[in-house]
Amino acid sequence: MPDEHTDPSCLFCRIVRGEIPATIIASNAHALAFRDLHPRAPTHVLVIPREHVASLAAATDGAMLGSVLLLAAEVARIEGLAEAGYRVVSNVGADGGQTVPHLHVHVMGGRAMQWPPG
Ligand code: 5GP
Ligand code: ZN
Repeated sequence: MPDEHTDPSCLFCRIVRGEIPATIIASNAHALAFRDLHPRAPTHVLVIPREHVASLAAATDGAMLGSVLLLAAEVARIEGLAEAGYRVVSNVGADGGQTVPHLHVHVMGGRAMQWPPG
C-alpha cells in the first residue's frame, strides 16, 4: 500500500497493518471488519476502509465506500442479524461523536435500536 494511503500513528491503520490485535470478522479488497473493543450492543462490529480516510467528510472514492457498505451487509449476514434488522451508522466529526479519525461504520444489532440515536 502506498505511504500516502496509511497513517503510521492512526489506530485503525495500525489494525489494518496487524500491529494492534483485533477480532477480524470479514474482509474484502478494500475493507476490513472487526469487533468493537467496547461493544454497545450484543453485536457491534466496525467496518473500515483499508486505506486511511479521516471520515466520510473526506471520502472521494465511491468504489471504496461501496466496498465498506457491502462488507457491513455481509457482516450482518455472518452475525445472523439480517432477518431481525440492524443499525449501520458512521459518526462524522465532533458533533457526530467521532472519536477515531479513520472512516468507519458501526454495524450494531442483537437488540432493538432507539431512534433518534441521541
Ligand atoms: P467512533 O466513536 O469514532 O464513532 O467509533 C470508534 C469506535 O472504536 C468506538 O466504538 C470504540 O469503542 C472503538 N475502538 C477504540 N479503540 C479501539 C481498539 O483499539 N480496537 C477496537 N477493536 N475498537 C476500538
Ligand atoms: Zn487510518
